[in-house]
Amino acid sequence: MKVSMDNHSHSLSLWCRLGTAVAAVVLLLSAPLAAQYQMPPPDFGESYSLPTQSHPEPPSGWVNILDVALLASGLGLAAWLILKKRSRRGVVLLSIGALAYFGFYRQGCICPIGSIQNVALSIADPDYMISFGVLAFFFLPLAAALLFGRVFCGGVCPLGAVQDLVLLWPKKIPRKLDRVLGILPYVYLAAAVYFAIWSLRLTGGEEGIVVARRFLICEWDPFVGLFRIAGSFHMLALGAVFIIGGMFIGRPYCRWLCPYGGILSILSRFAWKNVKITPGRELDCGLCAEACPFGAIAGNRADRGACLSCARCYDSCPLHSKRVPGLVTIAQGPGRNGARV
Ligand code: SF4
Ligand code: SF4
Repeated sequence: MKVSMDNHSHSLSLWCRLGTAVAAVVLLLSAPLAAQYQMPPPDFGESYSLPTQSHPEPPSGWVNILDVALLASGLGLAAWLILKKRSRRGVVLLSIGALAYFGFYRQGCICPIGSIQNVALSIADPDYMISFGVLAFFFLPLAAALLFGRVFCGGVCPLGAVQDLVLLWPKKIPRKLDRVLGILPYVYLAAAVYFAIWSLRLTGGEEGIVVARRFLICEWDPFVGLFRIAGSFHMLALGAVFIIGGMFIGRPYCRWLCPYGGILSILSRFAWKNVKITPGRELDCGLCAEACPFGAIAGNRADRGACLSCARCYDSCPLHSKRVPGLVTIAQGPGRNGARV
């Protein structure tokens, strides 16, 4: 009887603690959410005039909460599909859902990639406030990368999804060229942070040249024009280049331009769990390296930084795809090496 009362009071105190924690979180979030519409636009300097708004007004607080909840669930689901289920089909379905919601429905407006600029500016300028939604979108995929690798890129990012879906005839890119181009995301990241915080004044000529503060990542987003079915000429043209190029080259924006991908690449090297091609669970025959369109497999092992968590390698493995009946038994038995022949 005493044990049962102890259990009862223990679960009561657990619920009290949970309730207090939820109330504290709601209170903490209410301030940034309420401040969202009072936030003045950053001062970009006199020579820059804000463009006419070509997308809907920011959504109300509950839509922001829904966005964050969907992002968090999407990350969890992606991690489960990629690392536990090793299901390429599941990843494709998830990324189609993410493309439909975050891409076309929300018009690419809530985006961890662009949030780099908001976060950088808010660090440099204490008067510039950012909302809970922007902070969550910036940090959640980074936290997920530390836990499970680039699961955001694999199943949740609409920009990654659109490139993945148009990849029809993947061609191999020489590894050296891939490595050199892989430096560009960091150059772009530095430029984006610089221009989000400061302007640039070049002396020369009569008056010199002034490049005002601007959000470069948003201005040059190649896919937002597609999501909104509208945009400036340069955005639409850039989108067309990446989509046509992306039919032959695996995710060119992700690999050679995306500044957020650059950060994710660094973090995923320290991930707790990641895509692994292990001799015990895979056949280790080299088919996965052929299937990876991003050159992320070297020596039959996935490169933690370059792997975009698409799960194609698992899909290509005869042990997982079950295309060769009986191979599982052969590969797991003493004659495993014979199965490679
Ligand atoms: S690299 Fe960038 S664009 Fe590509 S999937 Fe990752 S975050 Fe999205
Ligand atoms: S190693 Fe290549 S094929 Fe496998 S999940 Fe990573 S990016 Fe996809």
